[in-house]
Amino acid sequence: MIAVVQRVLDEVRAHARDESPRECCGMLVGSSGRIVDSARAANLEDGTTRFRIDPRDHIRAIRDARSRQFDVIGFYHSHPRSRAYPSETDVAEAGYAGAMHLIVGVDERGALEARLFTIDGLSVTELTYDVST
Ligand SMILES: [Zn+2]
Repeated sequence: MIAVVQRVLDEVRAHARDESPRECCGMLVGSSGRIVDSARAANLEDGTTRFRIDPRDHIRAIRDARSRQFDVIGFYHSHPRSRAYPSETDVAEAGYAGAMHLIVGVDERGALEARLFTIDGLSVTELTYDVST
């Protein structure tokens, strides 16, 4: 079971709203089994169905995390008009084996949903998580 701090979910949802209709993206910061912070990244892709994290933001997030005894342990992005499930592109382009992927999307009623996955090769596994304060 993964623990996610409520503030991370709030921040990722806020970033998704700010960036809509484009996808937002960023990094998840924490230690094994616990996501304690997030860091926004610029999305270098045009259009509304893709994202590419600015590597300068990624490096900055790694440095900041390590200065606080944490690591970048995953990534997040948004699906402004579709479910929070990894797309074929997400699966094809997922690097960093072992990283967690948080996706904010819209469910069938149009409400925001946030779901957490690992992507290992072509295999997608959803992770359940507890929200903590
Ligand atoms: Zn995606």
